[in-house]
Amino acid sequence: MTVNFADTQSLMDITARPEIVFVKGEGSWLEDHNGKRYLDVIQGWAVNCLGHNPPAIREALNRQSGLLINPSPAFYNQPSLELASRLTKASVFDRVFFANSGAEANEGAIKLARKWGQKKRNGAYKIITMNHAFHGRTLATMSASGKEGWDKKFPPQVDGFPKAELNDLDSVRALIDEQTVAIMLEPVQGEGGVIPATKEFMQGLQALCKEHNLLFIVDEVQTGYGRCGELFAYQHYGVTPDIMTLGKGIGGGVPLAALLSREEVSVFEYGDQGGTYNGNPLMTAVGVAVFDTLMADGFMDNVKARATQLSEGLLKLSAKYGMKGERGVGLLRALLLDGDYGNELVLAAREALPEGLLLNAPRPNLLRFMPALNITSEEIELMLTRLDDLIAKVRP
Ligand code: PMP
Repeated sequence: MTVNFADTQSLMDITARPEIVFVKGEGSWLEDHNGKRYLDVIQGWAVNCLGHNPPAIREALNRQSGLLINPSPAFYNQPSLELASRLTKASVFDRVFFANSGAEANEGAIKLARKWGQKKRNGAYKIITMNHAFHGRTLATMSASGKEGWDKKFPPQVDGFPKAELNDLDSVRALIDEQTVAIMLEPVQGEGGVIPATKEFMQGLQALCKEHNLLFIVDEVQTGYGRCGELFAYQHYGVTPDIMTLGKGIGGGVPLAALLSREEVSVFEYGDQGGTYNGNPLMTAVGVAVFDTLMADGFMDNVKARATQLSEGLLKLSAKYGMKGERGVGLLRALLLDGDYGNELVLAAREALPEGLLLNAPRPNLLRFMPALNITSEEIELMLTRLDDLIAKVRP
């Protein structure tokens, strides 16, 4: 395929601008405009949970496009009802609002908590979030995020997001006052470097929420939908949050996200939340197909087996090169490098011939892995072998 790279100047300057245009994909593999293949173990930052171009999604799109593709906001459609029913039955939540992105779902969670604060807690509005958290790129979700330097971008920030330290209950407790309405966190910080919350911390947060009448909000945009070896990561921790947000995996790559809440907390009234595309039948039909694939016999067993394989393989690499180990939950994992050469590895992996490897380094001293949940054992072995070769070449 002939590509005119001058055309890339027509796009807002938000990509790293590598001269690669992907033209097709299948499972864990992508192909660019030159016909070069890439083994993809990041899958668009965990979004393509069934890999590229999965048959289940193609079939759902075909089936639904023969029925109804356009949204009619403020009316019901069949796929949205089916997906909402599946999600509430599979979780501790009673109500679902479908959004188009993780950030929009989190905006909804913030608004819902504030509305609940107005109704039930004398106008309390502050939501304690974590340093290094990532909740999105809208103004409120950037303010809720704890990414270094983000408090200086686009000033002034949205008020009311005091920051605590992940896994430090005292730092959370010290921030609680009568204006506090909720605590919000990712069960595993993804963009922050794959840092899991401990069970003690999550259970401690739940206890603090009960004690102070606060809402417990989990952002499962990255950790949900099987990524961490259970359908939702909160299930690992033995906690029952009040609000959960989903994104990425819920649509397997199409723009679909969700805000879920328990009945007592579902205080939105007609007109409070919504948008033209929310609950679009084409996207929610895909959501149903993804959900049913994850729930099929043996699917989650494969996720757990591949997670163990990946974890053991990364540990071996770490031992071989004297690195700092690996960490993560399920198929959201990180290799802790022995220096700041993550970006060099990402570049060398992408440029490798004859086949590339797509890696991600959210911090220069670690690599993050978020492969398709249906990645095969052979693909994981291949990735580990190629990574081993790359480390041998690139490591300073
Ligand atoms: N929350 C978390 C935990 C995320 O990882 C992300 C995306 N990286 C978001 C929210 C934002 O999702 P989106 O890009 O769909 O707005």
